[in-house]
Amino acid sequence: LFKEPVNLSEIICHGLEQIKHRQSHEIKAYISPNIWIEGDKFMLNLVLSNLVENAVKYSPKCSEIIVRLFEENKLLKWQVIDGGDGIADDEKEKIFQKFYRVGNENTRKTKGTGLGLYLTKRIVTQHGGEIEAIDNPGGGTCFEISFPGFQVKHA
Ligand code: ATP
Ligand code: MG
Repeated sequence: LFKEPVNLSEIICHGLEQIKHRQSHEIKAYISPNIWIEGDKFMLNLVLSNLVENAVKYSPKCSEIIVRLFEENKLLKWQVIDGGDGIADDEKEKIFQKFYRVGNENTRKTKGTGLGLYLTKRIVTQHGGEIEAIDNPGGGTCFEISFPGFQVKHA
């Protein structure tokens, strides 16, 4: 990990610009500006692409994906929300295990290695943060990352 002060707002906005145009979904971003953390740019981009890739893969075509970055109760929250089928309560922690995928060969419609969320969680933890899967009230899943350490630097 190569950590330096990075503008997470910018990393997310630029990252989304790169992937937006080749997605079959509508991606909406609500990104609070000038948020800085001590982080590894490359790894944070990987977190973004893993979560958005999952949101795309596990929700219907043309449905909406929302990416948010905001401050709440002194924590920095970074959310990726989809309108998919959601994740059962007893799977919400298992999905972060190495090679874990929900279902079995007969029920799964998608391909994957089950490494995406394992790596994502590792990277988040290495940045002092936490990640969890939460039910989205309107259906689907919200992956929420919380970071305790961040700064708002006004340009
Ligand atoms: P890959 O290694 O290519 O990312 P993967 O997508 O199967 O493969 P993870 O990203 O680690 O692996 O996700 C693990 C499992 O969690 C998935 O197989 C899927 O069952 C479930 N999952 C992940 N994201 C979502 C989501 N947004 N909605 C519903 N289920 C999800
Ligand atoms: Mg994945």
